[in-house]
Amino acid sequence: MKTYDAIVIGAGPGGYPCGIRLGQLKVKTLVIEKESPGGVCLNWGCIPSKALISAANTFEKIKHGGMGIKVQGLTVDPNELQDWKEGIVKRLTGGVRSLLKMNGADLTMGTATVTSPNTVEVVGADGQKETYKAEKAIVVATGAQTIEIPTFKFDGSRIIGAREAVSLRSVPKRMVVIGGGIIGLELGMVYQKLGSQLTVLEALPSILNGVDPECSKIVERRITKLGGTIHVGAKALGYEKQSDGSLAVAFEKDGKRDTVVCDVVLVAVGMRPSARNLGLEKVGVHINERGFVPIDKQGRTNVPGIYAVGDVSGPPLLAHKATKEGEIVAEVIAGHKAAMDWVSIPGAIFTDPEIATAGLTADEAKQKGYEVAIGKFPFAALGKAMALNETEGFVKVVADKKTKQILGVHIVGPEASTMISEAALSLEMAAFLEDVNLTIHPYPTLGEAYREAAGRARGQPIHIANR
Ligand code: NAD
Repeated sequence: MKTYDAIVIGAGPGGYPCGIRLGQLKVKTLVIEKESPGGVCLNWGCIPSKALISAANTFEKIKHGGMGIKVQGLTVDPNELQDWKEGIVKRLTGGVRSLLKMNGADLTMGTATVTSPNTVEVVGADGQKETYKAEKAIVVATGAQTIEIPTFKFDGSRIIGAREAVSLRSVPKRMVVIGGGIIGLELGMVYQKLGSQLTVLEALPSILNGVDPECSKIVERRITKLGGTIHVGAKALGYEKQSDGSLAVAFEKDGKRDTVVCDVVLVAVGMRPSARNLGLEKVGVHINERGFVPIDKQGRTNVPGIYAVGDVSGPPLLAHKATKEGEIVAEVIAGHKAAMDWVSIPGAIFTDPEIATAGLTADEAKQKGYEVAIGKFPFAALGKAMALNETEGFVKVVADKKTKQILGVHIVGPEASTMISEAALSLEMAAFLEDVNLTIHPYPTLGEAYREAAGRARGQPIHIANR
């Protein structure tokens, strides 16, 4: 039996940084992966979708840019687009292998099962079994998997999930997306911009549930402006194949049954944690009623020596949260003082326009008993946004009216995903409105909108009426 100090199960954005950090800290480490290094994020999630989103946005911008740019015969070749995207995936997943190696961590491919609190059995692709001993720790970093609806069983080509949706080599004429959440809208907008007639069916009363409604409204408006249809309060029921090969999707809205005809259905109704079938229950690891493995601030499960990080340990299901947890757990295993003690986990949604958030919404702050001061600055009043021809959206700062401490920042608009890092730092450093407002932001940049929003919350904005 081969022995390591630490064994990490899963080489996604939680597991591989954990393995790298363990290697750096001279902890003898094995990382086990059953599919491809990089997990969902690098193989068919975050990165492939962002590649497609950037291509679709570029295409759409040239097509409808309105900046005097005229191009004739503009087309997208979905095959070439896929080849380009796959090249990126290959480079990044190859990078994970070499980063692990460079830092002294071993990687083995196979399916792992925890057989005792300090042993793991791995079955390789050839069926060969090998057992490894972990002297100090086992880290479960197995992520999450797509939820399937029984009446929309995936068939790989017509009824698909995000995994297939990032690999389509033709653009469907009509696409129905079930679930107006992050995946549904990010990928739905990709195909909408590439030419699909998009219909979104969302069961709840609004899309992007949990996001500041003022932000999601702007995305909703954009989807509609591009010719798409969004049905909220609409529950997808099932589908029937028509004689012409199309699919008639049935849904219920306001107590009435309706149908929409399409060529491809993308089911994006959430992900569930991959905690089962790993042997965890047998060794006594607690899995909660939602399927997650609860952990403490050091990433420990209830069984000594077994840790969990990333999607499997609980929401939010975000790669950057997984990575941070992976790094912390590596330090804990190496005997360092480390803990999960962040103020906020920022979020970035790559719709058009982008939405990014950090900290509390105004409603959340009120529920926590704060009296809030709100400062909002629209991109329509910002020179740089005009120059980009992307003036939709705003930056909204939520602060404690009494102390002026910043509690949350909500951005919808161009480069929101990039701008939110400054807001996340403000929250971690417990910044006050004046810290942001008095900091010189380069002109002309989108980042000025954050400074102006903070200024507006203080009653002293420069480029907008002080109301
Ligand atoms: P989600 O939870 O964001 O959205 C799923 C939506 O489907 C919800 O709004 C839900 O109400 C709706 N729904 C459920 N059943 C339905 C039905 N029968 N008919 C109609 N609507 C239905 O989930 P997702 O979009 O699948 O994403 C999964 C996870 O991946 C999320 O937790 C998200 O955090 C993560 N993710 C994040 C990013 C990002 O941060 N940019 C990108 C992609 C995915």
